[in-house]
Amino acid sequence: MDYQAVLEEVAAFARPFAGQGQVADYIPALERVSADRFGIAVADINGAVHGVGDWEVPFSVQSISKTFSLALVMAHAHGDDDIWKRVGREPSGTPFNSLVQLEWENGIPRNPFINAGALVVTDRLQSLTGDASTTMLHFLREESGNPDLAFDQAVAGSEADHGDRNAALAHFMASFGNLENPVPSVIEHYFWQCSIEMSCRDLATAGSFLARHGVRADGTRLLQAREAKRINAVMLTCGTYDAAGEFAYRVGLPAKSGVGGGIIAVVPGRCTLCVWSPGLDRRGNSVAGAAALDHFTTLTGWSVF
Ligand code: GLN
Repeated sequence: MDYQAVLEEVAAFARPFAGQGQVADYIPALERVSADRFGIAVADINGAVHGVGDWEVPFSVQSISKTFSLALVMAHAHGDDDIWKRVGREPSGTPFNSLVQLEWENGIPRNPFINAGALVVTDRLQSLTGDASTTMLHFLREESGNPDLAFDQAVAGSEADHGDRNAALAHFMASFGNLENPVPSVIEHYFWQCSIEMSCRDLATAGSFLARHGVRADGTRLLQAREAKRINAVMLTCGTYDAAGEFAYRVGLPAKSGVGGGIIAVVPGRCTLCVWSPGLDRRGNSVAGAAALDHFTTLTGWSVF
């Protein structure tokens, strides 16, 4: 596969979509980014990385961090964790920050990739490691090979200043006994994780263990193959919120999006992709990013279907 040629063609197709949609503004610090940026990177399972456009420009990973927190909980729990008693594995059909299902379902979020579910996962990671956000940052530095990765304090602070909805989700779950740590600590670590700045290159490389069936960049195993398979399955069904059905229809790959405009996608056994363009559709997924991944699987035939 001539990745560079494929990426050039994908970028030519998707770039006209850059600038469409809305840049997330409910976290004011995210608004600074101009909507027409576009980058895409692919990391193959042997570690070779290719990219086009703004593929080395750092952006706010936001909900893409939810993939890594789930992987780290699975890794630290050594296959023996009760996380799935506290969070489900079904698509929610509701927006990523929705509260409504939680009351009907006794404080058990539908899946780990909506905010409520990610707060439970972060809570578990905090219990397992004593410092959820630093554990994630160190892991991402090692996997991406980029020691300069850092939290964006302005984004984390801005999200905390406007974090009433996430605080509400956390308090609501705590009222059902579904948090082990104090709410302020859980939401703080969650905001720090979301604020990490990474480029498409960094994210495609850091997500390679998902294409390598759980094997890390240094050849050691982070996850059992079946655990990596499960994360990919939940990404496919839940990783793009209430658009996961549409995303499977158009792209057909496990994927996780974030309101910073990034999307990572996995072709198991082959490669991990990351695309970034900050304009979001009304469900919170990058417009140009989805178009790019759609075109990538059309050109290569590499959807899981
Ligand atoms: N930090 C964001 C929030 O909690 C992440 C949401 C997202 O990327 N969809 O609202």
